[in-house]
Amino acid sequence: MIKIGIPRALLYYQYYPMWKTFFKELGAEVVVSPPTTQVMLSSGSSRVVADTCLPAKVFLGHVLDLVGKCDYIFVPAIRSVRMKAYNCSKFLGLPDMTRAVIPESPPILDIDIDINKGKRHLYQAIYRLGRYFTWNPFKVRQASMAAWQAHLNYQQVMSNLKLTSPQAIERISGTPEAEPGMHPRNPIQGNIALVGHPYLLYDEHISHRLIHWLNQAGYKVLTPEMITKDELESAMARLVGRGHWTYEEEVVGAGEYYLGSGVDGIIGIMAFGCGPDSLMMDMVRRRAAKLRAIPIMTLTLEEHTAETGVITRLEAFLDMIHRRRRRPVEVCM
Ligand code: SF4
Repeated sequence: MIKIGIPRALLYYQYYPMWKTFFKELGAEVVVSPPTTQVMLSSGSSRVVADTCLPAKVFLGHVLDLVGKCDYIFVPAIRSVRMKAYNCSKFLGLPDMTRAVIPESPPILDIDIDINKGKRHLYQAIYRLGRYFTWNPFKVRQASMAAWQAHLNYQQVMSNLKLTSPQAIERISGTPEAEPGMHPRNPIQGNIALVGHPYLLYDEHISHRLIHWLNQAGYKVLTPEMITKDELESAMARLVGRGHWTYEEEVVGAGEYYLGSGVDGIIGIMAFGCGPDSLMMDMVRRRAAKLRAIPIMTLTLEEHTAETGVITRLEAFLDMIHRRRRRPVEVCM
């Protein structure tokens, strides 16, 4: 049986159930890299220039971890999943970058997803990928339909049951995920919304167990995946009109939604060296400053960020929320 390696990084958190279903329906076995470790991050970093963003370095570390464990590695180039909205250059060139910096990688299975080129281009790309496993176009069609259904179920599970990506993956596939729970063990103090891309929020190594620390402090954590697609889109339309970046709703849409939701605080997570996020997060911060209703803090993560530093900032932020509750004041950003 052909083994397909899927790196547990970048778009894994958005699309894993869909990819897994597609490959399994075509008779392949799927191997996922383990949760990120310092060794993986260091090995990924060693292959690229220093100012490459943290999630891309982590991704390369996961690819290196899969070398020797599978026959192919799946590295899609997701250019756009919404009309006239494009992804950042790292996603556009991900298969080429991986080939260039990891020559020892098993052959890379790539697929070019660009919704702007129309349905015909999308179907052709899916058939091209399916041809690695079968020449029967009906089998590929069946696998792609099952994969799409798996994706819709996954999204529904997250928004209806208020689950994070790792929790939803665990529920759907029955595979235990070494990821944090979302419910506080101590008496509930309130709700904190996390705004940012899933590959930053749910990778415990690069987020320094932020969700765990919030739970320990008694806060329930809310994330962008817990908002329905329609709610995210209407929140984004309120703030920026039409979005220009793919996955903009995870930052701008979720930020605007949670600013009007009555949560106790919002934490924006972004990666050092990320151009799109620095613009998107700034819009959310400006909006929060204008509304003066909910405290917001942004954390910029990079390779050298220490867990102690994250905890210190978190404690200061939660302390401010407590003091504000005792004596309501306008929020200072
Ligand atoms: S959106 Fe930002 S963090 Fe994500 S891959 Fe692109 S540059 Fe890196």
